[in-house]
Amino acid sequence: MRIQLLPSTFDGQGVATLEQRLTCFLIDDCVAVDGGSIAIALTNDQRSKVRDIIVTHPHLDHIASLPIFIDDLYPTLKEPLRVHATPEVIGLLERDVFNWNVYPRFSDLKNDYGPVMEYVPIPLDSTFRVAHLDVIAVPVNHIVPTVGLLVSDGQKSVAFSSDTAETEEFWRIVNEVKELDALLIEASFPDRMSKLAAVSRHFTPASLSQELKKLNHNGMDIMAVHLKPTYREEIVNELNALNIPKLRVMEPGKVYSW
Ligand SMILES: [Zn+2]
Ligand SMILES: [Zn+2]
Repeated sequence: MRIQLLPSTFDGQGVATLEQRLTCFLIDDCVAVDGGSIAIALTNDQRSKVRDIIVTHPHLDHIASLPIFIDDLYPTLKEPLRVHATPEVIGLLERDVFNWNVYPRFSDLKNDYGPVMEYVPIPLDSTFRVAHLDVIAVPVNHIVPTVGLLVSDGQKSVAFSSDTAETEEFWRIVNEVKELDALLIEASFPDRMSKLAAVSRHFTPASLSQELKKLNHNGMDIMAVHLKPTYREEIVNELNALNIPKLRVMEPGKVYSW
């Protein structure tokens, strides 16, 4: 399984930088987990292949350019873009984003070939299929309805925490899988901001290391993501100081293979 955290910040020359301001993971060039930077950082080849987007929650950093992506592809789509999300999240996207005020309600629109966007409601706690992947979604502990994901291609399994603070169910499904190849987990704030992390339901390096005690697997890669750009250096130093084997910060733009 190949996974890329799409870049979301570029310098004056248009070169991607390490700061992560938006969240969008691309799996095997065809399935996206969240759509923060989906319209601004895909290659043309990727843009022609991505037709499935799993939305973990409706926070702007996870959906910011999703409406633009659909708009972009509107005239050329020969099949609808499928937005996979829980019914709760679908309701929020329809009410607050695709509401004819912020942007068109694409799920009601057609081009010459047919519908351009459809919602695929996802179940909690049972496996569903997205392209060639088997996915399980479970609620995590964030301030809006949010799911963490376990994604498998039949050979490799990767877990995505999405945005969360201390949580239980996620670890249950992650611990149930026979082998875990990678865990992508958020680390949003430095330790000195633990109060803000708690009220906004995010991890700091200290709370992340506590949380990892719930994990029964060993030897997998642990990729820290969602580091707030303002505190990036501080968070990186605190993560390094934890001395957790195979824990590193995921680099935007780089393709990781498991
Ligand atoms: Zn969030
Ligand atoms: Zn976020």
